[in-house]
Amino acid sequence: METEKREMTLPAVLEPQALDVMRPDDLLRRMRLIQEVASRAMVEKVDYGTIPGCGDKPTLFKAGAEKLCVVFRLVPRIETTTTELGGGHREVSSVCYMHYSSHDGPVVGQGVGTCSTMETKYRYRQGQRKCPACGRETIIKGKEEFGGGWLCFAKMGGCGAKFGSVDKSIVDQQVGRVENSDPADCYNTALKMSKKRALVDACLTTTGASAIFTQDIEDFVPEPPAAKAEPLKAEAPPPAEEKPPPKPQSKDVEHREEICRLLLEIHGGDVDKASGELEAITTFVGKDGKTIPGKRKTSELSERQVPVVLRKARDLHDEWQAEQTQTAQDAEGKNQ
Ligand SMILES: [Zn+2]
Repeated sequence: METEKREMTLPAVLEPQALDVMRPDDLLRRMRLIQEVASRAMVEKVDYGTIPGCGDKPTLFKAGAEKLCVVFRLVPRIETTTTELGGGHREVSSVCYMHYSSHDGPVVGQGVGTCSTMETKYRYRQGQRKCPACGRETIIKGKEEFGGGWLCFAKMGGCGAKFGSVDKSIVDQQVGRVENSDPADCYNTALKMSKKRALVDACLTTTGASAIFTQDIEDFVPEPPAAKAEPLKAEAPPPAEEKPPPKPQSKDVEHREEICRLLLEIHGGDVDKASGELEAITTFVGKDGKTIPGKRKTSELSERQVPVVLRKARDLHDEWQAEQTQTAQDAEGKNQ
């Protein structure tokens, strides 16, 4: 009688057979539960992303990780440490502890994540032509059949203003990869990314969902070699002689996946809008003045185009993220 009472007060997750020695049947049940949650309670492109032609294993997003936490009654607690790297740069390391049931409950798993303002996508920005009218970096070369010149492209969020082909306010602008003058602009992003990475990592390891989902692809893109930090020759894909021998297939695939993911995230999962964006950033005007139409699918990009498009997609994503942060900060400011 005594024993029975004690057993009944134990939370299910702490039963020795469930925690310490998980039997194959338990594991399968757990896997089926995660799959069921994914198919019935998760929204594709919001909670996870399965992108056609971009790999099979879906990527778990922050929202999906939070849902899995609810299902498994996991309460995340994230501790962050900031290390100053000099030159205004910093690295934020996060450890996410998964407590069972409440913050007072036992820790049943953990995950780590870091983000630094030295990461290429935060350290550098792509100096793009800025619209003198609206201030956005949405200037493209106008199509010859519509009078040429320069256009603030509405499809990219621009104001639609037009400028002459020799307009000094456009042609005198510096383009190419430039170092961010103020790394502090990215402190908030680095903090958010670090916490997000730790949360998703902890969720995947604690629940065992990594068999079904993968960590955010972006988080595993290796730092490009230093040579890539050199200013880019703006629009056109880099000439062949600049490229080392073809890279392993997998990196190319990873980069295409990242382009998909970044553009989809910017457009809230709207495939059509993301395709439109891809088309916009891959449309360019050749030396002969002819417009080369853009691509709507990453699978249509040439191997040489991929790194160029990836950088543009990352920059667009950074801008979008900075805007989100700004909007959130504005809202906070108003509430105070
Ligand atoms: Zn404009």
